[in-house]
Amino acid sequence: MSIHRLPDLLVNKIAAGEVVERPASVLKELVENSLDAGATNVQVHLEQCGQALLRVSDDGMGIPPDDLPLAVAPHATSKIRHETDLEAIATLGFRGEALASIAAVAHVAVVSRPRGFDAAGRVTASGQQISPVSPASSPVGTTVEVRDLFYNVPARRKFLRSSQTEAAAVNEQLARLAIPHPQVGFRLTHGKRVVHELSACDDVRQRIRDFFGPELADELIEISRDERGLSLKGWVAPPAQTRATGKWQYTFLNGRYIRDRLLQHAVREAYRGLVMVNRFPVVFLFLGLDPAAVDVNVHPTKIEVRWRNARLVHSQVLVALRETFGHRDLTPPVEPLQEAHPDQEQERIRQQIAELFKQASPVQQRLEFAGPRVVSSSPPIAAPPEAPPLPSETPIPPVRTDRPTPVPSKAEALPDQIAEPGGPIRAMQLHGTYLVTESEDGLIIVDQHALHERILYESLSARVARGPLTSQRLLLPESFAASDSQIAAAENHRALLEQLGFVIEPFGPQTLAVHAYPAVLRPTGLSDFAGDLLDRLAEHAADVRPQTLLLGLVELMACKAAVKAGDPLTPEEIASLLAQRQRVERSSFCPHGRPTTLRMTLRDLEKQFKRI
Ligand code: ADP
Ligand code: MG
Repeated sequence: MSIHRLPDLLVNKIAAGEVVERPASVLKELVENSLDAGATNVQVHLEQCGQALLRVSDDGMGIPPDDLPLAVAPHATSKIRHETDLEAIATLGFRGEALASIAAVAHVAVVSRPRGFDAAGRVTASGQQISPVSPASSPVGTTVEVRDLFYNVPARRKFLRSSQTEAAAVNEQLARLAIPHPQVGFRLTHGKRVVHELSACDDVRQRIRDFFGPELADELIEISRDERGLSLKGWVAPPAQTRATGKWQYTFLNGRYIRDRLLQHAVREAYRGLVMVNRFPVVFLFLGLDPAAVDVNVHPTKIEVRWRNARLVHSQVLVALRETFGHRDLTPPVEPLQEAHPDQEQERIRQQIAELFKQASPVQQRLEFAGPRVVSSSPPIAAPPEAPPLPSETPIPPVRTDRPTPVPSKAEALPDQIAEPGGPIRAMQLHGTYLVTESEDGLIIVDQHALHERILYESLSARVARGPLTSQRLLLPESFAASDSQIAAAENHRALLEQLGFVIEPFGPQTLAVHAYPAVLRPTGLSDFAGDLLDRLAEHAADVRPQTLLLGLVELMACKAAVKAGDPLTPEEIASLLAQRQRVERSSFCPHGRPTTLRMTLRDLEKQFKRI
């Protein structure tokens, strides 16, 4: 076949393939035009989920009749003029091809009356045909009608999913446009049904409430941060409000919905350890940045952007979220029990509590002792020991990196402080696994392993960020049979392992030996644990950053070093563990995201026992 230029219609159809995928994409382009035109009210009407008709009307600045044919012509725009304009895009559109692309795959009619004009003009476009402008009557603003989407692209039409799926996509698209523009009123109708009626307001939370309902909106925590040219506002859900997909992470840049791996990563990191694995937090984040500091001309639908200062963006988001959660008690309340069979439930709870108390022998497990709440000097557990290394040929210097004990100020005190500060801690270990104690407003049940693991994770990850962990030399290296990938991992990640306090070296064919191990670990089962670490390294090294990898290993270590379910604890150990609970950031969840603590308020108890 010879090389030849493609006819314009075909070029437009190809371009349409990039931006016009389904009714929801038409909605996006039309509503973006309305927003760019300064509309304060946008009405969207659909017939057959937008496939038969999708109409958007606005009260924006309008298009002068003479310009109407240009509006539907390819590569014609009023939003940029020079190449340099591309460097700082302040509008949602700028490519000048949306209407032309849509006209290549549907019948388009535009009626518009600019402010100051006493009549409207009308133009239609379909394929290559652009009609002459005819007079029309209309209030100030613009109405664009798109009929019979993909009438001339059978392949696309076939590809459209069930009408329910298309309706859901339209709805989702409207959320992405309406949430960042609360000051614009929106109304979405589908056939005879009003789907959304969002009145203009000046509050994002109100808009979220109108769109998604109060259960979601009223839980959100507001965050705000303004630094080094980046303004960040957000409404983020507490970690207990997670969803099964990442779709609930709405991120916007200068009023435009974007999807960005950097932002996703920052969110994931901030909630790390706070949410269960495979659960996703709900966030609405709004970034404001000088348009020159970001390139939105990366993708035809402009959903991806390129940052000029990616680091700043990442760290600001991470810090803002972390600070928010650092200052709140995130302990999930004990699930309220179903109202369905109150009597049965109540009886069940009574029995369970009675059972617990029976099993807890009063002598051994009812502890009552006075003493400082914050256990000083080396407590028997919970704080990683910093034993000096044994003498050996190449001693690794001990690192003293204990961070000063953060004592929570009155203002930041958690609502469920355990007993009164300085007073006695009354706690019980039940089933060798759970610690039950009194809080100011009820009772707290702690999973001893999960809590200890979290405490260790926090302290180890803080230390490891500062330098290698204290290492303990083995007098006799502990050798173990190793796979090729484990041997390779030991070789390739020597530095990383040393950071953790491990020295692992080849020890004959298919054999490795642990020469030194982190002092925080008990020396039993070291070679098994080393094997696990190396497997983890071999598996993930290729696709995560060293810092993330290191934290993953710290997680494994915290789990290994923590007391286990079933380990009996001494009163001092219990006191130490509970005291640290309040000092450790994010202590409400273990690093795997399981809760460490459940809480039941007196009110909950009173309700359950029908005392109120
Ligand atoms: P772009 O938005 O990239 O400029 P479009 O094809 O979407 O390209 O629109 C072409 C032009 O038509 C816009 O630049 C604008 O001048 C005009 N236009 C389209 N829709 C509207 C509207 N709702 N109100 C006012 N002007 C509009
Ligand atoms: Mg546009």
